[in-house]
Order: sequence, then structure tokens, then C-alpha cells
Amino acid sequence: MTTFHSTRSTTDSLTAKQAIRKGIADDGGLFVSDSLGSEHVDIASLAGKSYQQIAQTVLAKLLPDFTEEELADCIREAYGDQWSDPAITPLKPLGDDYILELFNGPTSAFKDVALQILPRFMARTTPADGDPDEKIMILTATSGDTGKAALAGFADAPGTAITVFYPEGKVSQVQQLQMTTQAGANVNVCAVKGNFDDAQTAVKRIFGDKDLASELADKSHTVLSSANSINVGRLVPQVVYYFAAYAQLLEDQVINVGDEVEFCVPTGNFGDILAGYYAKLLGLPVKHLIVASDKNNVLFDFLTTGTYNRQRPFFQTISPSMDILVSSNLERMLYYFSEKDTRLISMLMNDLNQWGAFEVPEQMLAKIRSLFGCGWADEDQVRESIHDCWEKNHYVIDPHTACGYFVMQQIPRDPLTPRVLLSTASPYKFPRVVNESLGLDAEGTDFECMDVLAKATGTTAPAALRGLETADVRFDDVVEIDAMKDYVRTAAEK
Ligand SMILES: *Cc1c(COP(=O)(O)O)cnc(C)c1O
Repeated sequence: MTTFHSTRSTTDSLTAKQAIRKGIADDGGLFVSDSLGSEHVDIASLAGKSYQQIAQTVLAKLLPDFTEEELADCIREAYGDQWSDPAITPLKPLGDDYILELFNGPTSAFKDVALQILPRFMARTTPADGDPDEKIMILTATSGDTGKAALAGFADAPGTAITVFYPEGKVSQVQQLQMTTQAGANVNVCAVKGNFDDAQTAVKRIFGDKDLASELADKSHTVLSSANSINVGRLVPQVVYYFAAYAQLLEDQVINVGDEVEFCVPTGNFGDILAGYYAKLLGLPVKHLIVASDKNNVLFDFLTTGTYNRQRPFFQTISPSMDILVSSNLERMLYYFSEKDTRLISMLMNDLNQWGAFEVPEQMLAKIRSLFGCGWADEDQVRESIHDCWEKNHYVIDPHTACGYFVMQQIPRDPLTPRVLLSTASPYKFPRVVNESLGLDAEGTDFECMDVLAKATGTTAPAALRGLETADVRFDDVVEIDAMKDYVRTAAEK
């Protein structure tokens, strides 16, 4: 039986369901399984399969305690009509390369792939200590994309509630409306007076508040949990689209079974690209995984020097979902590359907490570098890339995808190895920056920008985004940082 334990110790032995419910290990480590890679997915059988069929095969390997039927139900509910493309993650040519669109879900960002299925997984787990009325309250601080994707996934999901905090005035007009118009009886959305870091820090404090935890359990049968990408249940659904991309390349006869492929991934918290590494461990022929960062290039420095140093200025950029100084999921990659050495990982993470930095052994860095490439783009390069990609390919990309596009252009192309750029958001989520980059009018509201963009490029705004202009705003709460805990208390009693 596959079991999960912390990256920092081997004392736990949890099933996938238990790990999903728990989220993070008590020692602060992330859940990993040592049997990952002992069984491979049959690559030859991929061609001609639907996304849902591939998901069934891949998830069965990663979450073995879910029955075939449970997985089939989760997959059917998560990857249905709420996606605007029946392929879910369609692969399209982009010049001599390919682009994998991950943004055709209900909130137009790649986080939908995981957050549409995570609530379905959660609904099939059971409380650890047998309280049949136990309710999970998802608590999230968001700089934009995660909050909406989590709201859309958890709205009216049985046995759950969700509370999202966002920094007042610090998210785009589209992003704010996406959240404040969210339907559902179990959702709560609240603006916070402060920046994202303040909100995030306060949420972490609420998670660590033992008195609050027992009060919530006693009074309203509520346990707090996170929809952050450290959760196993958020990570593994992302492994599926790497296989789906490969299947589409097979079908289009770009490759034969066993040929290697490269992926270039716009990266923030290291979840998306880590899923590519999991795909490789499951037998997918991946030659390189290229980490593309924005101006917050802490991962680039790590992969070139072996030192991870989070003590550096933080830049708020036009690719906000990649503005991250501590890439949490890197810890899982380090675990596997250290030959599963929990003591070493424990030491490194201790160094990070205590000194703000850690350094990996030289040999380990060499191994990591043989698989992971890296690069980064500053904001001018992001704008130029949006322009360049439109000029060359007549394809509009968003600022996050543009980081990946820029980095991919910097790396020499091996004609024998197809390259796939992962596209993480619809350009219509960031219409102002996109218009500015393309030399279009960017004066009016976000909605006017959308219309200008649509007209100039012959593309269409996702209906859910364009419709926000006239949607009813349900939430206008604004609280001080210190009042967030009370807000959670009240939300739990609803
Ligand atoms: C979250 C996000 C990313 C970064 O993904 P990670 O898994 O955190 O590395 C990139 N682009 C967009 C649009 C996102 O929402």
C-alpha cells in the first residue's frame, strides 16, 4: 500500500485520503510517497485516449486508495461542461513549438485543473477522529488567481465551506469582481486592509492558533484546511496534463512512443513544474523541464548557484501569480533528488527559516541541473514577448505565459525534441497589460480593454470574464488584519 509521510521525517504513514484531508505535516513538511515511480504508466496506450481516460490511468497510480469508481466520479464532475474545450487542456502549434492551454476552465487560469477536482477528492475522505458532522473550512489569502479558482471549486461542495481574503485595492478589477460575485451558500469573500503578505501572514497565524481550532471544533464542528498547492490533492491532478500533451503529440504523429519531449513552465510556487517531474517518475519521456521565472528570480539563482536565498527585494510585477520568494513545492523536488534524505531536507528547511537561505550539496545540484533548465524575464521582456508572439504566431499570450515564451526563445532548439510551453492564464484575465504590449488602446475599464483586444485580434473573451461587468456583487466586507480571526469565527458559525 502506498503511504505518505513528511519530507522532513518518516514517522507519519498516511493514505492519500488522509494526506489530502490533513494538507501539511505536523512538522511543517510536505507529504510525499516513497513508492512514486515504482510503477509506470503505459505510454504506448496513451494515443487516442480522452483527457478523462488519461486522468483515470494516471490518478490511479498516484492515489491508490481511491476506488476506480470514486476516481471516475471525481473526474467526470471536475472535467465536464465547465471547460470551454472538450480536450480540457488542448495542445496547439506555436511556430516550431507547441503550447498547452491550461486556462479553458471556469476561472480562466491553470489552477482550475487542480481546484475543480480537489473538493471532489475531499468529499470522499472521512474525518480522522470520527466526527460525522465535521466540516472543512478552506481558508486562503490570495493575490488573485488562487482565490477565485478555489471559490469556484468549493462553492456548494458538500461538507465544506470556504473563506477567501484578498488585499484591498491590490488585485485587478477583473480579479476582484471574479471573487466578489461568486455564487454559493458556503462561500465568504473579504477584503483586508493591508498587502498580500500581511493577509498571508495572518492566515498562517490563524492556522497555527490551537485555541481557535478547538473552539471551532467544539462550537461548529469545523476544521480549517488549505487549498494551497502544498496539498497532495492539488498537486497530482496537474500530472495528468503532461501525459495528455504527450498523447496529443503521439496522435499528431509529431513523435513516436518513447521519444523525449521538453516542457517550459511559468513558475511561482513550483507546483506546476513539479507535476512534470512526477510525470517523468511515472515513466513519461521528459528530457528537460525548464523553470521560467519573472523578475522574482530566486529559482534561477538557486538552479545556477545551488544557494537558495529568499533575503532579497520582492517585486510586484505584471505577472502577480509568479511573484513569490519561497517556492514551497521545491521541497518535494529536493526530497527526491536527495535520495529521500529526510534529515538533509529538515536541515535545509531549518536553514531557510533561521537564516533565510540554504545551500544544497554540489553533486545534488549537478543532478538537478541535468533535468531542470532555467531562465527569467523582466517586465520589459514580458511585454516584448507578448508583442513578439502575436507578430510571429498570431497567438495572444498572457504575462505569465510570456515569461515562459521569453525563456524558451533564449534556449537553443534541438530539432529532434519537441518543446511544449505551458500556458497558465487567459490573456483576457490581464487585458490592460496585454493591450499595452500589443500597442492597443488600454485607457478604459478592464472590460473596454477586453473589447478592444477581441476586436483587434479576432479572439473572444471567455464569457465568464466578460459577463462580470454586469454580475451582482455579493460581498463588500473590508476588515483590518486584526479582525480576520473574528471574520473566520463568524463564517464558521454560518
Ligand atoms: C499559480 C500560477 C502560476 C505559477 O504556478 P506554480 O504552480 O505556483 O509554480 C503561473 N501562472 C499563473 C497564471 C498562475 O495562476
